[in-house]
Amino acid sequence: MLPALTGLSPENLASWLKDAGEPAFRGDQILSWIWKKKVTTIDAMSNLPASLRGKLTESFRLGALEHATTQGSADTTRKFLFRLHDGRYVESVLIPANPALYGEKSDRRTLCVSSQVGCAYGCKFCASGLAGFTRNLDASEIAGQVLAAEQLSGERVDNLVFMGMGEPLANLDNLLAGISLITNEKSLHLGARHLTISTSGLVPQIRKLAEHPQQIRLAISLHGATDDVRNQIMPVNKKWPVAELFDALDYWNSKKNQKLTLEYILINGVNDALEQAAILARHARKLNAKVNLIPYNTVEGLEWKRPPNVHCRAFQEVLKNAGVSATLRLEKGHDIDAACGQLRLKQETEEGIISAPSKR
Ligand code: SAH
Ligand code: SF4
Repeated sequence: MLPALTGLSPENLASWLKDAGEPAFRGDQILSWIWKKKVTTIDAMSNLPASLRGKLTESFRLGALEHATTQGSADTTRKFLFRLHDGRYVESVLIPANPALYGEKSDRRTLCVSSQVGCAYGCKFCASGLAGFTRNLDASEIAGQVLAAEQLSGERVDNLVFMGMGEPLANLDNLLAGISLITNEKSLHLGARHLTISTSGLVPQIRKLAEHPQQIRLAISLHGATDDVRNQIMPVNKKWPVAELFDALDYWNSKKNQKLTLEYILINGVNDALEQAAILARHARKLNAKVNLIPYNTVEGLEWKRPPNVHCRAFQEVLKNAGVSATLRLEKGHDIDAACGQLRLKQETEEGIISAPSKR
């Protein structure tokens, strides 16, 4: 299989052109065709000489993602399913900041991006972990989701969250190569401050990312304030328990000047005791982090449920009373937002690529 042209950094493209005896300005033209004009074939790069298009076609495939389906409507959240070159699927979710009301268009859009096919971390509540891990996405597949979402929607993506399928920090090299394509002014040119990486808590990689020069934001999927709760639902906690995780987050804070986010799914009877809220509040205050409370989205095949709204509010109150900034989204209709992984699971199960996930 030829390498993807969309996976080449501007520097690597420049050196390929040099080796091919082509002038350097062709690099900018090619990058503009890919990332700005969003062509779907190399042949469509009409201001390149046919000989260069021929050389490119011999050495590369374009690497644009193949769109399979879209769920949702044009003015609310849309979930795109993409088919990869090896027949696997990933999904990305485009979320307007304020879903359009009364025909008004929302002006900011966040794209939720996948970093792997499946996930090896096996959190008990998560659809992405259900069928296990298949493979890492490469840089072209990571940046390609943004390119394809912009192409399909005809809109610019303003914010990116790595909260789709997979554990981004388990694929750190490709993630950073993808981020470099996303942020480079010659490709997608999105500011690093508009990117948020979400992790279940891979301590060595958090420390490594803290050293990274770009001001990327970090969100931690905490979902339990103590080891006993976290151990029940997130196997990763056995490897890097809460105390080690918070040490790494202190280190992160010493290197970065943006507030951390602690994500906390509320699952009925599992992690929603008000004592957890009190402990969570202490952690958040120490780290100067904000908390994002997410009522659990039901996953087909799993029996977990979200707590009643009044209880979610009570949990939030404990945090607020302790002086912690805590958001809680209770409205319905966001079910496809956080349920990343489910669409791909359904598609691959239907096609017989994977067998139906069993309940744990
Ligand atoms: N692996 C990374 C990023 C992908 S998951 C991580 O775990 O952070 C993105 C977020 O969606 C995580 O906070 C995850 O815990 C949450 N999530 C997973 N399944 C969910 C569900 N059914 N309802 C609500 N949030 C869910
Ligand atoms: Fe993987 Fe994140 Fe899902 Fe856990 S929550 S299984 S780390 S994708």
